[in-house]
Amino acid sequence: MDRIAVFPGSFDPFTLGHEALVLRALNLFDKVIIGIGLNTKKKGLIPHELRMQWIKDCFKDQEKVEVIGYTGLTVNFCREQNAPYILRGLRDGKDFDYERSIAMMNRDLAEEIETYFLITDPEYTAINASIVREIAVSGGDIDRFVPRNISDEIKNFLKNEK
Ligand code: ADP
Repeated sequence: MDRIAVFPGSFDPFTLGHEALVLRALNLFDKVIIGIGLNTKKKGLIPHELRMQWIKDCFKDQEKVEVIGYTGLTVNFCREQNAPYILRGLRDGKDFDYERSIAMMNRDLAEEIETYFLITDPEYTAINASIVREIAVSGGDIDRFVPRNISDEIKNFLKNEK
């Protein structure tokens, strides 16, 4: 059976921390599916279609990475994708407490699906998508926090929004 992992998140925006985690996971799994949770109530900054397209552009040379949007339970999405693994990142103790609850509840919902955690790279541990969002909206430079193509796209997007 292929070792397929789903990396679920909102990725609003996708950061260098997320990217590094996916690249490391490629050494562990045959395929990594970046699952963008589509939450109709929580609109976020970047529209879902653009979020998805920009992440696809980041991994255009990586055939082992797929980017797919989903609604509903993450475990159901994993089952649809035949993915027995969920991948999440741990930056600090706060992430751990939060992630532990989600993992335990997911295990309750779907015993056959295992959650794998990777401790994030120290240089990216401070990167937080909501703070990056705030910086971008306030006109700050986000080049050091997100992949290059995404930084360019966000700048264009915000310019056109004005
Ligand atoms: P969510 O809305 O589900 O918290 P995020 O898009 O914020 O989604 O994050 C998705 C996953 O990426 C989570 O497992 C989170 O811990 C991880 N993550 C967030 N920021 C970083 C980072 N800087 N480095 C590595 N992993 C991260």
